[in-house]
Amino acid sequence: MSTPSTAPAYDRRHVPADLPTKIQHYIGGRHVDSLDGGTFDVLDPVSNETYIAASAGKKADVDAAVAAARAAFAEGPWPRMLPRERSRVLHRIADIVESRDARLAELESFDSGLPITQALGQARRAAENFRFFADLVVAQSDDTFKVPGRQINYVNRKPIGVAGLITPWNTPFMLESWKLGPALATGNTVVLKPAEFTPLSASLWAGIFEEAGLPEGVFNLVHGLGEDAGDALVTHPDVPLISFTGESRTGQLIFANAAPHLKGLSMELGGKSPAVVFADADLAAAIDATIFGVFSLNGERCTAGSRILVQREVYDEFVERYAAQAERVKVGYPHDPATEVGALVHPEHYAKVTSYIELGRSEGRLVAGGGTPDGLEGGNFVSPTVFADVAPDARIFQEEIFGPVVAITPFDTDEEALALANATKYGLAAYVWTNDLTRAHNFAQAIEAGMVWLNSNNVRDLRTPFGGVKASGLGHEGGYRSIDFYTDQQAVHITLGEVHNPTFGKRGR
Ligand code: NAD
Repeated sequence: MSTPSTAPAYDRRHVPADLPTKIQHYIGGRHVDSLDGGTFDVLDPVSNETYIAASAGKKADVDAAVAAARAAFAEGPWPRMLPRERSRVLHRIADIVESRDARLAELESFDSGLPITQALGQARRAAENFRFFADLVVAQSDDTFKVPGRQINYVNRKPIGVAGLITPWNTPFMLESWKLGPALATGNTVVLKPAEFTPLSASLWAGIFEEAGLPEGVFNLVHGLGEDAGDALVTHPDVPLISFTGESRTGQLIFANAAPHLKGLSMELGGKSPAVVFADADLAAAIDATIFGVFSLNGERCTAGSRILVQREVYDEFVERYAAQAERVKVGYPHDPATEVGALVHPEHYAKVTSYIELGRSEGRLVAGGGTPDGLEGGNFVSPTVFADVAPDARIFQEEIFGPVVAITPFDTDEEALALANATKYGLAAYVWTNDLTRAHNFAQAIEAGMVWLNSNNVRDLRTPFGGVKASGLGHEGGYRSIDFYTDQQAVHITLGEVHNPTFGKRGR
């Protein structure tokens, strides 16, 4: 890394106008401080200066939020409304998010360091998530099974209660919407615990929901650290389900801490996803997609294709072209529309990513990046970094870096490619590039990944399941899988004919 002799003077134009002056909890329809008055600092990822203090929730704050959510569930209108009535509120939420997408993107980009154009895409996707689940609950038809003349069985789908939603700092607003949408659409009430690095956009939900007409107490928000506010939600006896997105290690902890309460758990965890490029692939398309796949969203993307496996015949050409294109990816201020990679979210995360870059120098051959672009020293800026010739036992091959860093490894045969693709503890996504249809489908069958993209970057229809295998997660979200997770499916059985076994106990001994 280059070390600046003096601290850089950052262009203050990256700070949005009219920033809020504090970030509070939202409990039972009111914006409130922590009961003990505690706060934590939130940093601007460009300058690493504290720009705001956010309320630091503890167990007592979570207790208050859960009590409000529980009361709204037990007595309020939301769980009792018809799906189409809830659907209308969700569509209004989507309308409001859409109408404010530019401001939401501006604040999200500032808080998280995401490039503004990509933050705008994520704000629009958040609106789309609400629309999608608004439509899905209305379209939902529950199962009925009939045995003519004997019985009817039907499924009584019910909201579960207070849903605990714990979310990470990457694309925070969008990922919150991915949980809020289905949890609310199905009639639950919620307590959201957003990530402590990026609390700003989460604090905007309350105003949006109030304006859309969501009844009081249905949505509650507690900011704070994972081990305080997060854990209090996980271990709360009145929270029957937790939807969690974050690191695999945190997922394991939550799994253990929730075990005594036997909660419903959905776990969307980390990844180290392979992109496998065969010699017969359209190389130009594969390079474009794999550049986007690991460097978009600052590389802070769970499904990033951060290990590229390339068949030996095209390996040298691929590495050369890939490195040249990576060098041309534009790193810059998050608010600049020309920026493709912004600032990493936080100095702690920056230290983690740059320590992997240092390690990579001894584990692979550095062919692009490896430092900080000129003029951007001092903040959390990292050049897109490419290591070639990375062996499968290298830590940069095995461990999730979650930044703009990629490892490239050669292979010879299909068998070797599959073994390398499956050679980590993770199993979230996989990308395969080949023009051989049979090979592509066989590879998809054999690869240990929850999601496979063939000759594609990771576009998907929201009806398909989203989730990982191995250390990348438990359960699936998306489409009806989300509806299933957020509802109890009670089976009701009615006898139409004779009651079964009417003579039992009437025959004497
Ligand atoms: P993290 O696990 O550090 O934190 C996620 C959330 O969990 C935060 O809100 C945090 O405060 C909370 N938390 C931490 N400790 C807790 C505890 N003991 N009990 C309850 N809550 C606790 O993850 P992160 O660094 O914010 O996010 C990055 C990770 O998320 C990466 O591993 C990434 O791959 C993963 N991710 C996965 C998906 C997916 O869909 N599979 C999507 C996005 C991000």
